[in-house]
Amino acid sequence: MTLSFDPDTLPLPIGHFIGDRLVSAEGVIDMRRPSDGKPYAGCPLADEALVDRAVETAKAALKSSNWGGVRPRERTVVLQRWADLIEKEAGTLAKLEALSSTRPVGHLVAGDIAVSAEQIRFFAEFADKEGSNLVPTDDASLGMVMTEPYGVVGAITPWNFPISMAAWKLGPALAAGNAVVLKPSEMTPFSTVYLAELAIRAGLPAGLINIVLGDGAVTGNTITGHPDIGKVSFTGSTGAGSAIMTNIARTGIKPMTLELGGKSPQLVFADADLEKAAVAIAQSMLSNAGQACVAGSRLLVEESIAAPLAEAIVTRMKAAVPGPTWDETSEYSPIISKRQLNRIHGIVETAVAAGGECLFGGAPMDVPGYFYQPTLMAVRDSSSPAITEEIFGPVLTMQTFADEEEALALADHPTYGLAAGLFTRDLSRALRLTRRLQAGTVWVNRYSRSRDHILPTGGYKRSGIGKDLGREAYHANRKSKSVLISL
Ligand code: NAD
Repeated sequence: MTLSFDPDTLPLPIGHFIGDRLVSAEGVIDMRRPSDGKPYAGCPLADEALVDRAVETAKAALKSSNWGGVRPRERTVVLQRWADLIEKEAGTLAKLEALSSTRPVGHLVAGDIAVSAEQIRFFAEFADKEGSNLVPTDDASLGMVMTEPYGVVGAITPWNFPISMAAWKLGPALAAGNAVVLKPSEMTPFSTVYLAELAIRAGLPAGLINIVLGDGAVTGNTITGHPDIGKVSFTGSTGAGSAIMTNIARTGIKPMTLELGGKSPQLVFADADLEKAAVAIAQSMLSNAGQACVAGSRLLVEESIAAPLAEAIVTRMKAAVPGPTWDETSEYSPIISKRQLNRIHGIVETAVAAGGECLFGGAPMDVPGYFYQPTLMAVRDSSSPAITEEIFGPVLTMQTFADEEEALALADHPTYGLAAGLFTRDLSRALRLTRRLQAGTVWVNRYSRSRDHILPTGGYKRSGIGKDLGREAYHANRKSKSVLISL
C-alpha cells in the first residue's frame, strides 16, 4: 500500500467531535499546508456554549457509563481495542495529520502512530493494576490512601506531534476513569478528531472523548477556566502555560500538568565516541526540523574536538533533502508556518549581526513551502537570543568549554530545564554530571526517547510542572483521599 497521497483531494472531518459524532462547523481560522504554503481549509472555533456542551456531554457519559466505577479491566479492554483500530487505520490517520502538519506521512505510520497505539496499551494496563494503598498505622487503626478519577479532564495539545500528544493525554486520563474534553492545535486538528471517532468505533462509551476545535484565547481559555473541569493537562509553550496558570488562579484553583518549552543542551567531551555523538546530535535537529520540545538545540563541546565534531554534524546536515509531507519518501520536514519561518530566520540574522558565525545553513530553503536549512552556528555570547530563546527550528548553536565546570555553567539555562544530552566514555563523569544537570530528562550517549514508556517526561524550571508518560501520568489523572478508620 502506498502512503503518498494527493493533498488536494483528501476529505477532512471539519468540525468538533461531541458525544458519538462529528458536529460540522464553519472553518474560520485560516489554515495553510506547511509543505507548499497553500490555503486548504479553515479550523472551526468552539465558543463558550460549545465547550459547555462538550463538558455536559462528558459529565452525562461518565454518569450513564459509570466509566470510573466499572470493573477496571473493562476500561483496559476497550482502550486496547482502540489501540488496535488506530493501528488498522494508521494510513487514514497519517494522511489527515501529514496534510496540515510538519510530520512526513511515512514517519507517522512507522513512528508516531505505532508508538501512540503502544502507549495507549501501556496506560490501559494500569487500570486494573494501580489502586488504593493500605498504609502503616498503629494496630488500633486502619489507614489507607484511596484514589479516584477527577471526572472531566481538560486537555490542550500543540501542533508539533498532534497524534502523539493526544495519546499522551487521552491514554492515562481514560485508563484512570475520567472523561476528556480535548482541544488540539488550531493548526493541526483533524487527526485528533479522527482519533476520537476511532475510539467510539472501538466501543468507548459515547461522550467520554470530546474534541473541541479552536484557538487558545477563546476555546482554550474556556476549557482551563471551566468550573466542571476537574484537572487540566496542557502541552505547549511556556508563554501559554503561564497564561493558563493565571487563568486557573483567576477562575478557581485546580490541578494542572504543564509540559512546556525547552532549550536543551548536548554536552560532548573529548573522550566521547565522536561519530556516535554526531549522528545523535544531527538527528535531533533534523527530526521534525528541530520542532520538538526536547530538541537538543545547544551544542556544548570540549574545545579540542570542536572542529571535527562540527564537520561530522555538517556532513549529516548537508544530506537533508526537503520533501512534502504527503510523499512517503520525504524525510526532512517543513516549518509549521510562514510566521514561524520568519521568526527563525530573524533570530539567526540577529545572532549573526552580533558576531555569530554560521558554519552551515542560516537561510530559508529555495523550494515551495516553509523549509529552513539545517543550521549550525558558533555563538560566543550566552545572552544572544539564539542561546536564550526556544527557536523551535533546525538551528543548532555551538559553544565550547574547557572543563566540566564550564560545561555545566553553560548547560544551566536561565529559563528552561527540559532535557540534556551527555556524550562521554567516562562512567564516573557521566554519573557526576547527570546528578548536576538541571533537566527533567538526561540522555547519556544517545539523544532520543526510546519505547520505554515507563520513563516519565517533564521539565525542571519553566519547562513545566508534572509529568507525561510513566506511572506518573496515570497517577496524575487520579486524586487521592486519605482514610483513617478507628478500629
Ligand atoms: P502554543 O503554546 O502556542 O499552543 C499549544 C496549544 O495551546 C494550542 O492548542 C493552542 O491553541 C493552545 N493555547 C495557546 N494559548 C492558550 C491559552 N492562553 N489558554 C489555553 N490554550 C492556549 O504551542 P505550540 O506552538 O502549539 O507548540 C510548540 C510549543 O510546545 C513549544 O514551546 C514546545 O516546546 C512545546 N511542547 C512541549 C512538549 C513537552 O512535552 N514539554 C511537547 C511538545 C511541545
